[in-house]
Amino acid sequence: MYTYGELLDDVNYLSRFGVETGCVGASRFGRLIPFVHMEGKGKPVLVTAGIHAREHVSSLFAIKQIYKFFSVTHVSDVWWVPMVNPDGNVLASSGAEAFGFEKNKLLALNGGNHDFSLWKANAAGVDLNVNFDAKWGEGKLNSRIAGSENFVGERAFSEPETLALAEFTKKIKPCLTLSYHAKGREIYYEFGQSGATLERDRDIAEYAASLTGFTLINGTRGSAGGYKDWCIQSLKIPSLTLELAPDDMEHPLPDCAIADDFEREPMLPEKLYLFVEQHGYI
Ligand SMILES: [Zn+2]
Repeated sequence: MYTYGELLDDVNYLSRFGVETGCVGASRFGRLIPFVHMEGKGKPVLVTAGIHAREHVSSLFAIKQIYKFFSVTHVSDVWWVPMVNPDGNVLASSGAEAFGFEKNKLLALNGGNHDFSLWKANAAGVDLNVNFDAKWGEGKLNSRIAGSENFVGERAFSEPETLALAEFTKKIKPCLTLSYHAKGREIYYEFGQSGATLERDRDIAEYAASLTGFTLINGTRGSAGGYKDWCIQSLKIPSLTLELAPDDMEHPLPDCAIADDFEREPMLPEKLYLFVEQHGYI
């Protein structure tokens, strides 16, 4: 499993080679949420991963892309937030023992189970990808009870992780965002757009599907309160969710689950940026 500790090592390594790195903010339990910036001449693209605790391979996928960008010439100006949910990653990888006096509370949220490897939420039991201010609380699978997944929180942006990512996004002003999740090899791009905006976003998503071989999903499938949803609704920018890894693999996914996806298209943010620019979508 790709861990928060390994992520910090990778970010420190990159910064020693002159790559701009920093923090978007801190998690509920004070863990820093790093960003990595690969400077380019184009308009900014923002890539996020690891918002769901067990989806550690999405963070690994982002880090592999960062190293690839570091080694080749590129036009796009890409900002990565490779692990939005560091508390969740630590919980999924090390268990409740890593949370000191919160241990018993977390065990209760997990039904007494010491195995947190399937956990998705942050360490307050809030599913961060339903905590954004975009039809908050209206999602099909939304829950009002803290736990491993689907709990929307007390209110939109109740969590420091989602608030920090939203503020960072407004500061960077991306022309496109990509959110890596796992699993299923699918692409989502809709959240109530219409007319030319919907055509634009579908065109970009279709191109992403052709690059990755992933299945394009029309409609929202009842999603609400996600990061992509918020970007589409509030910022009016194209925003894709990409579900990496084959669906027939089981969680917790092994690191190799994203190997084929990475090999097929290691420069995905660059390719999508060039497409968006060439078609006059920004
Ligand atoms: Zn996810």
